[in-house]
Amino acid sequence: MRLLKHGSKVGNATVIVDIIQKGNPEIRPGTSMKPKKITTHNTGNASKGANAKAHNTYIHNLASYHPKDTTHVSWHISVDDMCIYQHIPFDETAWHCGDGSGVNSGNRTSIGIEICENPETNTRQAEENAIALTVLLMKEFGVGSIDVVPHQHWSGKYCPRVILKRDESFTSYRNRVAAAFSAPKKEEDELKFSSPTLKSETETSLLSKAHRQIIVDAAVKAGAYSSWVDKLANGTLTDADVLGLAVKYTVAVNK
Ligand SMILES: [Zn+2]
Repeated sequence: MRLLKHGSKVGNATVIVDIIQKGNPEIRPGTSMKPKKITTHNTGNASKGANAKAHNTYIHNLASYHPKDTTHVSWHISVDDMCIYQHIPFDETAWHCGDGSGVNSGNRTSIGIEICENPETNTRQAEENAIALTVLLMKEFGVGSIDVVPHQHWSGKYCPRVILKRDESFTSYRNRVAAAFSAPKKEEDELKFSSPTLKSETETSLLSKAHRQIIVDAAVKAGAYSSWVDKLANGTLTDADVLGLAVKYTVAVNK
């Protein structure tokens, strides 16, 4: 079971690990997962009091119901400006992407982070906490910043709606993640997971992830983030593109 360390601090938030019960597969399917992406959501609940704690209570209630009384809905993390609640282990699937149960679906391959949008939550701080957690997860599971995606990526749903509405796309949030990822490593980061890190990646895939991260970093510096990173994400980045990026990057850093 891959869990955060209960009581640790991530960003400005205190981590509370409160895993939901097994039994209702529409909430906790129990299918094992090797996380390849991290999916960002807003809760869609702007009611007073709809903070991370309330969402933890909500998902615990759902998990206790009979499947006939629920629909497929669950996620790994709820975060607000004060707290990060983990409801489902990171190495298990959840139902948060609205794209079914195919082996390459978001539901089967990604960790779901719900950012609260209740009026008492400081949105900026909640996002900073989510970003700090996202960076920890990227390092833990070998996920690059191009694989930090909005819910919209999977099913087209307009989510995370607060971020998409404010920034007009997911790009600036992803840039904030990439910048936080590139910040100097903190020693205590490794202490924020409760079980030992599994180093099961092959060297080849680690190498290719490193290459991808270099391209992302160069694209940020060259000021041409989205076009290069979109091509990388779509698998349409050619050798000529990489050469072009190298030229732009060299110009940018020598300015
Ligand atoms: Zn969503």
